[in-house]
Amino acid sequence: MSMRVLAAALAICILLALAPHRAGAQIQPPAIVQHEDALIPPPPPPSLTDTGSRGPSQYMAGRVAVRVVLPESVGHSEDWSAEQIDQVRTQIQAGLDWWAARMPLARLSFTLRLEVVPSDYEPIEYGVTDEGRWISDTLGHLGFPGANYFDQAYAADAALRDMLGTDWATTIFVVNSSGRSGGVFPDGHFAYAYINGPFMVLTSDVGGYGHDQLAPVAAHEFAHIFGALDQYAAAHVDCAQTSGYLNMPTRNSAYNGCGTHLPSIMIEILDSFSHGQIDPSALAQIGYLDSDADGIIDPLDTLPQLTLDPTRISESDGRPILSGASYDLGFPSPYQPTVSINTISMVEYRVDGGVWQPITIKGTAAEVGASAFAGELPLYDGDYSVEVRARNNVGSESRISGQHISVSQVGSRPDYRPSVPAITADAEVRVQLGAPEGTQAVQISRDPSFSAATWATYMPEMPVSLSGCDGKQTVYVRYRDSAGRESLAFALNIQLDTTPPTGSASRDPNDPGRLIIQAQDVGTSVTEIGLMIDGAIPLWLPFQTNLQLDTISGIASSLSLGNATPMSILFRDAAGNTSAPQAVTSAAFAVYLPLVVR
Ligand SMILES: [Zn+2]
Repeated sequence: MSMRVLAAALAICILLALAPHRAGAQIQPPAIVQHEDALIPPPPPPSLTDTGSRGPSQYMAGRVAVRVVLPESVGHSEDWSAEQIDQVRTQIQAGLDWWAARMPLARLSFTLRLEVVPSDYEPIEYGVTDEGRWISDTLGHLGFPGANYFDQAYAADAALRDMLGTDWATTIFVVNSSGRSGGVFPDGHFAYAYINGPFMVLTSDVGGYGHDQLAPVAAHEFAHIFGALDQYAAAHVDCAQTSGYLNMPTRNSAYNGCGTHLPSIMIEILDSFSHGQIDPSALAQIGYLDSDADGIIDPLDTLPQLTLDPTRISESDGRPILSGASYDLGFPSPYQPTVSINTISMVEYRVDGGVWQPITIKGTAAEVGASAFAGELPLYDGDYSVEVRARNNVGSESRISGQHISVSQVGSRPDYRPSVPAITADAEVRVQLGAPEGTQAVQISRDPSFSAATWATYMPEMPVSLSGCDGKQTVYVRYRDSAGRESLAFALNIQLDTTPPTGSASRDPNDPGRLIIQAQDVGTSVTEIGLMIDGAIPLWLPFQTNLQLDTISGIASSLSLGNATPMSILFRDAAGNTSAPQAVTSAAFAVYLPLVVR
């Protein structure tokens, strides 16, 4: 097999050396089997690298398509039963779900396609050196010809990825081994995978593990598919050996006792699978490393890029047209093609430091992965500073690109003066729109991109509903002038406070004519107190923490303000929310008396 490249202890995982054991069973030292397991896959054929510029499975993040191929030998003895097929599907899905649960920051999702494919061979009768015969035959039946079976496998992965619109794709061949002693190929293999793809091979009984342990074995192989190396001693992988998209060392390898000795599915399969254990170095090899601790793993921690075209002037209305292209620059890989699976979600501009507004993305430009954008800027005559930025689907923003734009053929800017109250206790707000006569229409939205807003005929005052949550909110307004030309968006800030203040008041123990008051308000501030004496309507006063009752005109003279007079207090905040009345308490003198213990 000249297409294979030999490289010590790197490529295919031979689980022969990893003797299955269960907790409590006596652990046999694994038999070290010398094999041609120093294999890495040949690279994808140039015809595929031209189009995709990426391997089938470079890091384990995003959307992954998995094609499970069950070869069905024609006229031979190993036929798949419906029950077997169901079990393979369930077990492999469980292995994939295991990974999704381990890596919450990887945004993983899997799409499984299972196909029973006729084969002129009985695959269980062929060892790894002859795998090409039945794999080539099977992939040919699936409609993927090629110069060799690796080219065929790369093509099958690429076709599945294109068809399902995923970021990555891989193929899992499951070979029916039922009835065969040991569930192994003639050379003793029963599970192996090529580092970073394009495929893995499992027997349905995965050797001594048994068909009900396909999930943990598939999970282990899946790590190889995305770049992880083996860590069990018999694999002879040095701790310094690097692999994967980020080219990370195998720090947890048990070989020569060099590693960190952490439980991991790359060392031992069954217990690690049932306990959800994988070590940080294997995670880093499959790309799950957040080196700047920002909650975005490195391969997804990409930077949107932006290029701006020279500004053009619209022939129809004289307004400037902003256009350019944006693409997402992948996190660099030392040895693999740099690939970003992120997408540009938004390109925005703002004028003179105002509201960021989206520009329409007009589909994919000629450059691979770049999105072209273009939009007319709603500017009137004048000189402007225009800034543009792009944002991707994980929320990273490009550097801001700036342009100075002069507009001279549109006309002068209408005098728009929209306003809302600074504070409100009611989520239903009136917006004062203050536009010149002849203004045609207006849009009001809580969303700066006005995504769900409709144009309404202009009126000087219009309602808007705030979100029900207390706090600072922003309302956006834009206009169509008498000629139907749009304005820039205006941002109006408003504080919604629907929660009344809380507080209490008590008589000063040393001066019953004085109230000690404390109160607080979450959304705004306490502005007033209302004093209810003997059930009368409240007397409203500015908020104060000490209230000398005998200085308040009208009440001090008419009441003997002894402790017996029932008195309540209310609190009102800046938004106008009023609390329920609270009885003014008479502070117990006893609190302040020294305790005497005899
Ligand atoms: Zn392995």
